[in-house]
Amino acid sequence: MSKFNDYNFAGHKALIRVDFNVPIKDGKIGDDTRIRAAIPTIKKVLSDGGSVVLMSHWGRPLKDIEKKPNLTLADFSLKPVLSRLAELLGTDVQFADDCIGEDAVNKAKNLQAGQVLLLENLRYYKQEEKGDKDFAEKLSKLGDVYVNDAFGTAHRAHASTAVIAQFFSSDNRMFGLLMEGEVAAAEKVLHNNEKPFVAIIGGAKVSDKILIIENLLEKATDIIIGGGMAYTFFKAEGGHIGSSLCEDDRMDMALEIIKKAKEKGVCIHLPADSIIADKFANDADTSSCINTEIPAGWMGLDIGLMAIEQFTKVIRASKTILWNGPMGVFEMEKFQHGTKAIAEAVVEATAKGAYSLVGGGDSVAAVNKFGYADKVSYVSTGGGAMLEFFEGKELPGIAAIKDN
Ligand code: AMP
Repeated sequence: MSKFNDYNFAGHKALIRVDFNVPIKDGKIGDDTRIRAAIPTIKKVLSDGGSVVLMSHWGRPLKDIEKKPNLTLADFSLKPVLSRLAELLGTDVQFADDCIGEDAVNKAKNLQAGQVLLLENLRYYKQEEKGDKDFAEKLSKLGDVYVNDAFGTAHRAHASTAVIAQFFSSDNRMFGLLMEGEVAAAEKVLHNNEKPFVAIIGGAKVSDKILIIENLLEKATDIIIGGGMAYTFFKAEGGHIGSSLCEDDRMDMALEIIKKAKEKGVCIHLPADSIIADKFANDADTSSCINTEIPAGWMGLDIGLMAIEQFTKVIRASKTILWNGPMGVFEMEKFQHGTKAIAEAVVEATAKGAYSLVGGGDSVAAVNKFGYADKVSYVSTGGGAMLEFFEGKELPGIAAIKDN
């Protein structure tokens, strides 16, 4: 593979896989973060004197149309992205109504240096998600250099994210700047971390996080477990958790994690107390309670003050921090305090020199909500991909670009 910044794109046509799967409603774009994230990569190619062919998926057209026959492919078009993209790039962007076929081939062939072409949604074709080799080869003809800048889909072995790479020589395939940043941040935390290394794992379900915890038992010095998933651990140990979230069928797994952690010398930190509520609502009556004695009819919806103190102490002493999943129902103001306090401790540790990576849907939403995104070392855009990376899996989108 080549390194993006070392490559001179003059006279080249870069076929760039981006992730423009942005919210679109009634033809209007909502949060444009993903489009913005691709801009530096596109601009570098253009300023070198190259041209750019962009390809992306949007939504799940074929699956959704099957369920709702009133929908058509047009409801899944990438066209609404055009004007925002042109605005952000400061240049016109051409559009091909089909990501393969004569029109796309001609438009790509006629692109001049400095010009940009966006292809229609890749997922109009079932071959995309199936990782079809012929489809990938057709796409590959639209450029002479392949750049993958879609970290969010790097865990999928799709035609445009992985299979296509084989049609480019090693010198002519590479990560884009966004993807490079994501991979570097993830590798630093998982493979080149400075100890103590704390992983803060929260969110709703143990079952979603079991693989990541198991893999981190091999890597981290401390694992903080917060959020709804903590109660399965307390119940498994014989505690009373009231009507807090619990996965009864995962209690054995929780005990197994605690046992393995002891064997490996990894400290598992479970929250000492919770903010409990009499219903799942922002106007619930609340109280605080230690986590083994939650009364019947009450549920833990945030970590309590003792837990905050316990967790922030560990975070402040750490040199590497990975955070995936909120500490409570932070979407409700009444139960956001714990997640906010953890975010503040991560920010504080970062300011003192720790490396912090926030990855995975809701913890990213939390740091954005509290305005701390630029005060941690790295905020990942790739929820599922980042999770799988930390589960220890090889991501097809990364493996396909690399040389071995
Ligand atoms: P996840 O996607 O697994 O990271 O879970 C995130 C979701 O977990 C958020 O929507 C939170 O509101 C929810 N959550 C966190 N803590 C709790 C809790 N104690 N009880 C119920 N839901 C929770």
